[in-house]
Amino acid sequence: MNPEDTALSLIDINPKLDKGLLIKTLAFVIEAHKGQMRKSGAPYIRHPIEVAKTLASLRMDTTVIVAGLLHDVVEDTKYSTEEIKEKFGTEVAEMVDSVTKISDIQKGIDRTAKTFKKFLAYVSKRPQIIAIKLADRLDNMHSLQYLALERQKAISEETLDFYAPLAHRLGLYSFKFELEDLAFKYLHPEEYAAIESHLELTSKEREDYIQSIIFPLNIKMNLEQLDCDIRGRSKHIYSIHEKMTARGCKIDELYDIFAIRIIVNQIADCYVALGYVHNLWMPLYSRFKDYIAIPKPNLYQSLHTTVIGPYGKLVEVQIRTKDMNETAEYGMAAHWAYKFNLKKEELEKNMDWVNAITKMQNEIPNSTEFLGFLHESLLPEDSYAWTPQGKKISLPLGSTILDFAFAVHTDLGIRCLGARVAGKVLSIDAHIPIGETIQILQSDSQEPQETWLSMAKTQKAQNSIRHWLRKAVAAQSVILGKKIWQKELHYLKISKENFPGDYDICKAFNAQNMNSFYESLGKGEIPLKDIFVFLKQYSDHSQGWSKLKLLFSSSDEDNPIIIGHNERFLLNYASCCNPVPGTPVKGILKSGKGIEIHKEDCKILSKIPQEQRLALQWETPENAKRERKCILRIEAEDRVAIEKDIFNSIAKHNAIVKKTIFENKEERVKGRVDLLVFNSAQIKNIEQSLQAIVGIRKVTVL
Ligand code: MN
Repeated sequence: MNPEDTALSLIDINPKLDKGLLIKTLAFVIEAHKGQMRKSGAPYIRHPIEVAKTLASLRMDTTVIVAGLLHDVVEDTKYSTEEIKEKFGTEVAEMVDSVTKISDIQKGIDRTAKTFKKFLAYVSKRPQIIAIKLADRLDNMHSLQYLALERQKAISEETLDFYAPLAHRLGLYSFKFELEDLAFKYLHPEEYAAIESHLELTSKEREDYIQSIIFPLNIKMNLEQLDCDIRGRSKHIYSIHEKMTARGCKIDELYDIFAIRIIVNQIADCYVALGYVHNLWMPLYSRFKDYIAIPKPNLYQSLHTTVIGPYGKLVEVQIRTKDMNETAEYGMAAHWAYKFNLKKEELEKNMDWVNAITKMQNEIPNSTEFLGFLHESLLPEDSYAWTPQGKKISLPLGSTILDFAFAVHTDLGIRCLGARVAGKVLSIDAHIPIGETIQILQSDSQEPQETWLSMAKTQKAQNSIRHWLRKAVAAQSVILGKKIWQKELHYLKISKENFPGDYDICKAFNAQNMNSFYESLGKGEIPLKDIFVFLKQYSDHSQGWSKLKLLFSSSDEDNPIIIGHNERFLLNYASCCNPVPGTPVKGILKSGKGIEIHKEDCKILSKIPQEQRLALQWETPENAKRERKCILRIEAEDRVAIEKDIFNSIAKHNAIVKKTIFENKEERVKGRVDLLVFNSAQIKNIEQSLQAIVGIRKVTVL
């Protein structure tokens, strides 16, 4: 291996490279990896050189290529980062170090938040290191056949899961397609072979068809004197597989296994060419996409249209300028390579994603959740909408109004009631309408429910909801725990001077402080019996345990625990007797969940030992005398716990339920709820919060 020849072969690819520095690096790397072999039996040095060639073809500068050549030196040879720093400078050493870190994170060696922070902080300064890692992975995928089957599958999975989306996110489509096809081949060899052979068998037919489009197009463009280059290309195997899975169809039912691409000189020509295409064949309006006016987050720009071609077949046509084509092939890398010519706002746009990740890492303490977020943020962002202020919000496909609200601001998400879009009102679980302006409807009385977790698709929204619920449940548990504790002290007639000290309580129940003791008690994590046994020693009564037990059962009724809005997340309505707020009920503590509420006369409840039952009473406002009747009619989808959500929502506004009738018919629930309310604002609030519940179709107040 000769350093000078190799340097020249790199300069062949990109003439702007620094020959002297390349020769110096190559001499060092060849020596460092001397005697090492790849699994294929080839000398190890071929690997870093392949990586450098790929980087050169992406027009990366000399520094990046030097780092690419050195990328395995620290991991696989005797040299340390310090020595690299001495010989090649800080920048190169930092890049090599960061490339090594990606592997560590991937391998799960070091998944601490600290490593991530350091790594991301550096990536945001030098995003080119991702290109090095991708070039490294690409060459490794090319020599995968020499590894054991198990390793082949594991590496391929990781490639599909992490590296291909990463390439997509950066707009490096050439990497993405190659990585995907290679990985797919190892993961599903039979499906791969089937698609490949179909493409081969039909290639003549397809080529003829492509010509039947290109030929008239060329004539038209010539007549109109529009300078352009027209090509037809078959799609990649993995993209075909994805389309088949997404649409659930066979390969011969797919119309878009190839696309026609028209490359023109300037932006205005794109729209002119589009006009000519639509002139020749009728377009399908619903498939038209203008990524020139609204580029994808990875900077991809192009016009996409689908027309009804010869023999009634659907044909996809992509129209773009040479510059746009460059970006599509080299992605952001094309911009990094020319970073000195880059306008400031373009550079900032480039960094949007990295900035978002850097911000996010401060909000997610747990590295598994962070990995989830990182992975999600790598997925293609294909839906977007605008805020009324004109800010574009990009979200993964399938995101809902709730995701949109949380993406704008956490507080907006928490208060979200729905949205107004083009004069229509959408519920919080509706998919975001792509390209529209979304005005989030909010209310101070709104609050997240557990059911929101299934409606939010993004990690950001789910994390915020989970965080909010955790806090709310903890706060409510403390309130309920205190009530239970007071009640027990009262039952056992323990006088103030005999009250157990905080220290003794915490010690006995293994709690860090009184607050966490109350929390555990309210959540039902401490059995009532244990409280009883503990308090026995402080009781003024000289009676024995059996008498105390008697005392407990008899006095139970006189001293109910008042429940209502403040405990709403801890109230679980038992499905055996379907109790409703306002009617006579009793409760049982359920570990981790709070109180399970039963009707007083429930048969299941009667089988539970007396001392485990809690006497409950519904909270009523002080001005209960001015109550009046009100009837709600509710139409909803039939889903798990819909009644619970309805009752919680009513309990939240302190109304008393007198009677309910719910009927299920053909996956629909129709209900009537008779309420006692105290003023009209209360009815309005109840109506509003019912309407925000998932699955509720209609609420009418009679
Ligand atoms: Mn490597």
